[in-house]
Amino acid sequence: QAFTSLQLAEPIARAVAEMGYENMTPIQAQAIPVVLAGQDVMGAAQTGTGKTAAFSLPLLQRLLKHENASASPARHPVRALVLLPTRELADQVAQQIKLYAQYTNLRSAVVFGGVDMKPQTAELKAGVEVLVATPGRLLDHIEAKSAVLNQVEYVVLDEADRMLDIGFLPDLQRILSHLPPKRTTLLFSATFSPEIKKLAGSYLQNPVTIEV
Ligand code: AMP
Repeated sequence: QAFTSLQLAEPIARAVAEMGYENMTPIQAQAIPVVLAGQDVMGAAQTGTGKTAAFSLPLLQRLLKHENASASPARHPVRALVLLPTRELADQVAQQIKLYAQYTNLRSAVVFGGVDMKPQTAELKAGVEVLVATPGRLLDHIEAKSAVLNQVEYVVLDEADRMLDIGFLPDLQRILSHLPPKRTTLLFSATFSPEIKKLAGSYLQNPVTIEV
């Protein structure tokens, strides 16, 4: 199935075409229409399947098409949050999102631990619509009030099984408690263990299950 059949907004379609993507991978063909329709997703997919584009492209499309409704003084409130277990994964996903969003006016940033907080704080204060983060460092920014998440419309729990393996469940619970209940939640995991199903049961609403 060709990307052109999705009728993505021109800036996104241009980035996709420039990257040489022509046909959707199986996870993309299944997940993109569901995310575009605003439904929650529980997806089983490994890295290398095109999972990042499967959630990023429809998410960027929705951010472009739906203006932030609330009358916030912040010009660039965080509207989408992508959580990953490690600095390496967060960095990779953030780089892909930057490429997909390069012709839009949407801003993105990544925050992870092990480095100075100050440059991250400056970026957050300047405003970003899409924030990619590891849980521990994000909580630091929430506590420091540099990350304000009360306007988040989309949250992606990527590599959710690995986040639980690392012991991030309490951090995830705290982060999710800061988010508006009316939001779209996407969860991706290599396996659907009982723990993952429990997490999904607590935080997803009528998710569409996708397995590739
Ligand atoms: P991911 O599974 O998200 O880590 O993506 C794996 C790699 O596949 C990345 O380098 C992407 O740029 C690339 N990719 C993702 N979707 C497509 C596609 N539909 N066509 C060609 N390459 C793709």
